[in-house]
Amino acid sequence: MKGKNIWKKCLMFDVCCVCFLFLMVITGTGKGAKLQQGLKTAAGGLETIRQASGAAQEENVSGEKKKIALTFDDGPHPQYTPEMLVALKERNVKATFFLLGQEVEKYPEIVKQIQEDGHLIGNHSYKHEQLSKLPMEQACNQVGRTNELIYGITGLYPSYLRPPFGDWHEKLDCEVNMVEVLWDVDTLDWSSQNHAKIVEKVLKNVQENDIILMHDGYETSVTAAMEIIDTLQKQGYEFVTVDQLLFE
Ligand SMILES: [Zn+2]
Repeated sequence: MKGKNIWKKCLMFDVCCVCFLFLMVITGTGKGAKLQQGLKTAAGGLETIRQASGAAQEENVSGEKKKIALTFDDGPHPQYTPEMLVALKERNVKATFFLLGQEVEKYPEIVKQIQEDGHLIGNHSYKHEQLSKLPMEQACNQVGRTNELIYGITGLYPSYLRPPFGDWHEKLDCEVNMVEVLWDVDTLDWSSQNHAKIVEKVLKNVQENDIILMHDGYETSVTAAMEIIDTLQKQGYEFVTVDQLLFE
């Protein structure tokens, strides 16, 4: 009888080991997919690997909350970026701001505030020109000058670059140490400036691990971002910065 109990325990132990190994494989696969997504994005590809997720599902297979990243381009804006920062803080949400060097020069105190609030700051070039159409030296200068401006305020060089219009090419290798970040859902918020349209575009298309493209230069973008956050948080999404989404 005693021997049988020991055998039973061994069997249970084996079953647990198998379950544990199975879970490890699932978890490992998830992280691998995320890293691959990061590398694909870093290589400049628009295509990203998506992980299947149900809208009502609060956690993914590895038991983590579903991650999503809000990104705001073209700032800082003197009125709407501070409004966005207040609203993000109220919701305990971290986002990523891809800043233009020419706006950084005008509003350094807002850049400082973005950093102090714990958001990630990325580079969106100096004055929003299509970099692949510029001579190499000028294109590199657009990126390098903005990096220096941001460094002068935050003490940190940005590691992430979003080229204007998502346009970059391999010959522009002046900032090879930067990771290019594109997007999965383009809200076209700058074009519509329509709260309902922006919200609908995101809620209809969003999936786990998506990067959402918005702009912090419009009142409608602020109010839409807040509705998007409030709705998706209820669906179990956690808003993170792009570095957390791509590499953690
Ligand atoms: Zn832009």
